[in-house]
Amino acid sequence: SAAKLQLAKAPDEILGLAQTFNEMLQRLSSAWEQQRQFVGNVSHELRTPLTVIGGYLQSLLRRGDNLSIYQKQAIATASAETERTIQMLQDLLDLARADSGNLHFRQAPVFLNTLVAEVASMSAKVSDRSVTAIAQDQDIVALADQDRLQQVLINLVDNAIKYSADPVEIQLETREEQAMIHVCDRGIGIALVHQQRVFERFYRSDDPSTRSRDGTGLGLAIAKSLVEGMNGKISLMSKPNEGSIFTISLPLWNPQR
Ligand code: ADP
Repeated sequence: SAAKLQLAKAPDEILGLAQTFNEMLQRLSSAWEQQRQFVGNVSHELRTPLTVIGGYLQSLLRRGDNLSIYQKQAIATASAETERTIQMLQDLLDLARADSGNLHFRQAPVFLNTLVAEVASMSAKVSDRSVTAIAQDQDIVALADQDRLQQVLINLVDNAIKYSADPVEIQLETREEQAMIHVCDRGIGIALVHQQRVFERFYRSDDPSTRSRDGTGLGLAIAKSLVEGMNGKISLMSKPNEGSIFTISLPLWNPQR
């Protein structure tokens, strides 16, 4: 529900204004709620038929011995685009859930050394690129939702791989009672004008080197909403042509509390 302007004692005109203001707030917040529900419903309804279409395209490809090369390529492209659209709908659904507070976080101790090592080796295997985790021997334990944190890390590493050609590093450290995870690449970097905005929904920097790569511009928006949902922060340091460092900071797990 919307915040309310409350005035104890004021002239009638001001009280009248306050009431109008509160009614406007109420209407705005219900319009926002309706829009959120609409996006959620549409994403959900579109996902089912697209999944069916994707399934048929895949089975056509599997049994396509008598298809021409052109036909196979056309079906493969249609199939890839279908997958991408399904992923985008899933992302929109996640964001709509996060907006409505319906995303529940299972906060528990997470052993970050293990998690970052797993994410690094998994990403290296899938992408066939060098992805390494760098940490001290001593365990760093954060209070977070392990599955969601893993999802965010995979997303950041995917970006690092996508926007660079060099090795990617995940660094782990503690600083001022916080666990810090840095995902570092030496890729194309992000210009200052875009840095504030890359966490916005659908925002993609408009330079050709970004546009030529697949993406929806939703990944970092989701990363931000997930990290904030587990009481953490996400930030960015970057220089064009030098690389980017995305940093997640999370509260350390405190066994006394
Ligand atoms: P996308 O699907 O476009 O990758 P994201 O939300 O993950 O969407 O990222 C938003 C934009 O931020 C990207 O389009 C790109 O311009 C920029 N970006 C994200 N990660 C990096 C990175 N590691 N290096 C350079 N640019 C990046």
